[in-house]
Amino acid sequence: MTKIGIRYTKPRKLIFKALNHFSKPVSAAEINFYLKNKIDLTSIYRTLELMKKINIIEETEFGDGKKRYELMKNNKHHHHLVCENCGDVENIEMKEDNLLDKVKNKSSFLIKEHKLEFFGLCPNCQ
Ligand SMILES: [Zn+2]
Ligand SMILES: [Zn+2]
Repeated sequence: MTKIGIRYTKPRKLIFKALNHFSKPVSAAEINFYLKNKIDLTSIYRTLELMKKINIIEETEFGDGKKRYELMKNNKHHHHLVCENCGDVENIEMKEDNLLDKVKNKSSFLIKEHKLEFFGLCPNCQ
């Protein structure tokens, strides 16, 4: 049922389901916890690598050495709010045309993409 013609094996299906469940980037450990250890961490990592290679998911790292993953599917351009205390991540969508215009005016760089991440404390940790 996939368009890219890869085999939809069980781990892939389960990991896809897990990523679909979270509406934010999650780590392999969080996926593992959500799937109640149905797939071992090594297979999760291997499957995530593969899903990354075929552009189903996007990998992000917020400087804490932990890689997090989220689905590209229906994934509108957004930014991340990262809690420095508990590591929770929230997605945020916003208008940023002004910011992008400013960058364009200040540089002749051809920008293809950008990432914006905000660090602070989530409501639970304040
Ligand atoms: Zn943006
Ligand atoms: Zn927090």
